[in-house]
Amino acid sequence: MSIIVQKFGGTSVANKERLENVAKIIIDEYEKGNKVVAVVSAQSGVTDNLNFKASGISQNVSKRELDVLLSSGEQITISLLCMVLQNMGKKAISYTGWQLPIITNKNFSDASIEHIDTKKIIDRLEEGYIVVVAGFQGIDDEYNITTLGRGGSDTTAVVLSSFLNADKCEIYTDVDGVYTCDPNACNNAQKIDQISYDDMLDLINTGAKVLHNKCVEYAKKHNVVINVKSSLKKGSGSIVKNIE
Ligand code: ADP
Ligand code: ASP
Ligand code: MG
Repeated sequence: MSIIVQKFGGTSVANKERLENVAKIIIDEYEKGNKVVAVVSAQSGVTDNLNFKASGISQNVSKRELDVLLSSGEQITISLLCMVLQNMGKKAISYTGWQLPIITNKNFSDASIEHIDTKKIIDRLEEGYIVVVAGFQGIDDEYNITTLGRGGSDTTAVVLSSFLNADKCEIYTDVDGVYTCDPNACNNAQKIDQISYDDMLDLINTGAKVLHNKCVEYAKKHNVVINVKSSLKKGSGSIVKNIE
């Protein structure tokens, strides 16, 4: 029996239909006898909207309070996804970053994960639950809520895969893999089946936001193989791994 971490980004969880689609992907793995941990982002537009609300108060809001605000988007998604999974007859339970906890440094709005306590996740998996974890967030050693930087749910998934010693880390998004350039912006984009951590980091430096840079840096250091896939279209996606 394998542990599989599956991360779903904002467009993949944007509404009820998309959440049902994600639930089917999760249940598919669960029914093969695997233990599934889903990491989710805020629904598309939600984090931007929260940022907009804060900027309506001041251009200079406290970083601590901004993180309290921005982290709330993912809390909405974890509960909705669990409700959908439960509606489909499955045992599902959600955790925010502080509930586990996911411990980060104190760098508000760009924090790095230092430790994840996996006990609750492991216990629930043993009890047959699908576990749904809020991406993008954690707490520091004084219980302040922190966020990992825009796009940071990818990093939650990769770090969690490492702490759980997961057999697979799948990042589901709205394109079917990593391309030579943004497939939504350039006509001659070619899909890359396998890419090294360093080449992926170079691609991110040219603006490819398909993966969060910190997630690739962490994956390289801890040898986590990442499979980037589409939540909307079947296919093997792209593998980001160590290539000699
Ligand atoms: P998610 O919400 O699932 O985290 P993101 O919007 O962060 O998704 O990342 C996916 C987007 O990354 C795609 O819609 C695509 O437009 C963009 N992108 C930019 N460069 C690339 C690239 N080289 N390969 C694939 N996608 C890319
Ligand atoms: N919700 C956060 C963002 O929009 C984190 C993420 O999507 O990964 O940046
Ligand atoms: Mg993203």
